[in-house]
Amino acid sequence: MAALNISRLVLRSSKLRASPSHLFSAQLLMQMQSSPFTRKACSFICLFTFASFSFTDIPTSHCMSVDAHTVASQLNSSGLLRTQGLIGGKWTDAYDCKTIKVYNPATGESILDVACMGGRETNDAISAAYDAYRSWSKTTAAERSKLLRKWYDLLMVHKEELAQLITLEQGKPLKESIGEINYGAGFIEFAAEEAKRIYGDIIPAPLSDRRLFVLKQPVGVVGAITPWNFPLAMITRKVGPALACGCTVVIKPSELTPLTALAAAELSIQAGIPAGVVNVVMGNAPDIGDALIASPQVRKITFTGSTAVGKKLMAGSAETVKKVSLELGGNAPCIVFDDADLDVAVKGTLAAKFRNSGQTCVCANRIIVQEGIYEKFAHALRDAVQNMKVGDGFGEGVAQGPLINEAAVKKVETLIHDATSKGAKIILGGKRHSLGFTFYEPTVISDVNSEMRISREEAFGPVAPLLRFKTEEDAIRIANDTNAGLGSYVFTNSIQRSWRVAEALEYGLVGINEGVISTEVAPFGGYKQSGLGREGSKYGMDEYLEIKYVCLGNMNKE
Ligand code: NAP
Repeated sequence: MAALNISRLVLRSSKLRASPSHLFSAQLLMQMQSSPFTRKACSFICLFTFASFSFTDIPTSHCMSVDAHTVASQLNSSGLLRTQGLIGGKWTDAYDCKTIKVYNPATGESILDVACMGGRETNDAISAAYDAYRSWSKTTAAERSKLLRKWYDLLMVHKEELAQLITLEQGKPLKESIGEINYGAGFIEFAAEEAKRIYGDIIPAPLSDRRLFVLKQPVGVVGAITPWNFPLAMITRKVGPALACGCTVVIKPSELTPLTALAAAELSIQAGIPAGVVNVVMGNAPDIGDALIASPQVRKITFTGSTAVGKKLMAGSAETVKKVSLELGGNAPCIVFDDADLDVAVKGTLAAKFRNSGQTCVCANRIIVQEGIYEKFAHALRDAVQNMKVGDGFGEGVAQGPLINEAAVKKVETLIHDATSKGAKIILGGKRHSLGFTFYEPTVISDVNSEMRISREEAFGPVAPLLRFKTEEDAIRIANDTNAGLGSYVFTNSIQRSWRVAEALEYGLVGINEGVISTEVAPFGGYKQSGLGREGSKYGMDEYLEIKYVCLGNMNKE
């Protein structure tokens, strides 16, 4: 009966015009009365159904082309639709029953209410992780490897549904969401393999009666705080290696995108990873963060997000001297030399700049172009950007979705206003998209210089600012003139120049003639204020390991 009531309520209250196919969807909801769907799941389906209605006051291009019923029933039957936190293997409401809404940025509609947790739930999650650590840290590498591999397999089996969930709550085009599942699951697969290769060392002893060796052991309980721009990958990049090393985790996903995190956690349970090894709490970020920092049982904080919050967590961790890994904001330069292949440079810049609507920490933030190729490059980039289709991430051929929220759009507007007031010129876009909500036109602006705010702050939006330079030395100076040091890109056909510039750039990642370089097999992390430590690759494993030196003495005794 609940489903019937919900569907009627939907039709009454939403200023909707229903087409025959939409009525079919509503009927499907009514048929679901007899199924074991929960009320929350039903309301989720309603929203999928809303999305395929045409709102009288919203352009039809906002409608999802996804088959709502298929997605909903797949999510339901695989148990992936979760709204509660996960503490010690139990799905748990907030203790005061508070909830928080998760929105679809493409439509502004709320998708579901999820538990809004705080310090008390976090402390219980820490205790659960601490208890589970005793046995998990004693499992063999082979056992951990098998469970992680199973988790990877399940993530891949549910790739389509998980990708749809990402597009729904985060807004990126479905094709990019599928890419994120492959990328994100890759960290679990890599960790499953690497679990078996956590070798220690034997050190030649300085005294003949001694034997020295090094053991690598898990650091303990890990607090993992992640952002909204990669709802799966930012979690798996931390949790994969942590679990492989024998650590247990308390994950805090962003309140903006918790559904993917909860679905991934559900799959960890289905994979057989024991209760308490993976815990998830979400809601009141400062309270959760404070609880993680204050607890002496948490031995490591791993954080991906803004530099401001990262600094707070680092300072707070000093009290209990926790290990800290930080993946923070970037201000990526993308240097295009006169000798670059124009097509390669445009294609690479497009990918480095506009992926995820410009909302990645490694997005090109300053496109620094040598004067000989500047005009040609600006025209070619403008033409390429003009061809990008903007729309709901579920739409056919859509290359750019909405920004995550109104604050993100306001930031882009402020930076563009600052730049144009100081002499920059808009050569494409430069305003909100006619689709409304948080859609913004893919934008190219020229005549930008290093003093403008857009060169000094992370725009985190679909704006390509073009700066001009004369010599290689100028390019390196401009590129390094920032407190950030995460991603950087260079386009040149000179092998000698590519070496010279790669060595001179104060950045953790350098892409030469390539705009998308992240992979689970290579180290990811920043110089300067872009962070501490590395994720991915064999180097990412070290972040979750303690080094223990053992000395055996009196070894010459019979
Ligand atoms: P954010 O505001 O710092 O949020 C990141 C996470 O921290 C979220 O889970 C957030 O929770 C939580 N948080 C906020 N305040 C907190 C507090 N006082 N204590 C504990 N946790 C707190 O960053 P964002 O806007 O989500 O993400 C964008 C930023 O992340 C950009 O600067 C981007 O460059 C950076 N980023 C870096 C990398 C990298 O690898 N270097 C990768 C991706 C993104 P709520 O969302 O629930 O408030």
